[in-house]
Amino acid sequence: AIPLVVAFSTSYSAKRGILIRNRDAFERVKDVDAVIFDKTGTLTEGKFGISEVISQDIDRRGLLRLVASLENNSEHVIARAVVEEAMKEGLDLLPATNFKAHPGRGVTGEVEGHYLAVGTPLLMEELGVKLESHFLRKVRELEAQGKTVILVAIDGKSAGCIALSDRVRPESYEAVRELKAMGKRVIMLTGDSEEVARYVAEELGVDIFMARVLPHQKVEKIRELRSKGLKVAMVGDGVNDAPALLEADVGIAIGSGTQVAVESADIVLVKSDPRDVVRIIRLSRITVGKML
Ligand code: ADP
Ligand code: MG
Repeated sequence: AIPLVVAFSTSYSAKRGILIRNRDAFERVKDVDAVIFDKTGTLTEGKFGISEVISQDIDRRGLLRLVASLENNSEHVIARAVVEEAMKEGLDLLPATNFKAHPGRGVTGEVEGHYLAVGTPLLMEELGVKLESHFLRKVRELEAQGKTVILVAIDGKSAGCIALSDRVRPESYEAVRELKAMGKRVIMLTGDSEEVARYVAEELGVDIFMARVLPHQKVEKIRELRSKGLKVAMVGDGVNDAPALLEADVGIAIGSGTQVAVESADIVLVKSDPRDVVRIIRLSRITVGKML
């Protein structure tokens, strides 16, 4: 039988947009030592706008058209922003063949007979694309302003980059502050660059962050913390976060995120408000206190 107070808490929280999918996890969440947040779409809105397109040896519109044609095959929030921008600028998209998604790194494929690669420096390195130092300096400069930058290679040669801007959720400030005040360790993991990670972490007062974390490394990080005896909650929104949500003592999904994340989570924040992590911990404390 479900203790009455738990049943009450479940409906109380559901009315406030916090969905408890696993009651044991709800009872556990009061004891977590660390709360790990994904960055994009979790602490930030994950709604990207294009802020700059830099092209080398090809015109700006030509580059955007090729990249959008490839990204049209990807579900990633970055991909959607690029396609949207191309549409807004009246560009016709072309079909892509041999499309491949490289999780946490980017996408590759062929458009108009050209082999395209769009993504992180690691993806470029894996494909043997040389990046000039003055170009990388410009990329770092954009990232230091908090912009996510994706690199573009055409036929194995660096052809430019696209800078995208996201917005920190206004609710994230209070969420981080309150969790720290409760004595929880707050950690941010992201597949994005060191520069962007530092920008967001400093903005929010997150002391510990890791950048360029590949999806399987998020799981490893949680395993590492748990092996030290820490109880860990993971908060994420993406397909890439699903394994980490399952690995954590308590997996918490952002409601506006992907279905896969929601299905992998113990608790769902329907309103996509990171402050609800604080609320659910408090509610767990009160509820479990009453059961004892
Ligand atoms: P996060 O952990 O921030 O949610 P991801 O693991 O999904 O990010 O992606 C990490 C990085 O990989 C992105 O910042 C981006 O540089 C690159 N990337 C992923 N998917 C794409 C894509 N479809 N197009 C271009 N770059 C991508
Ligand atoms: Mg994310």
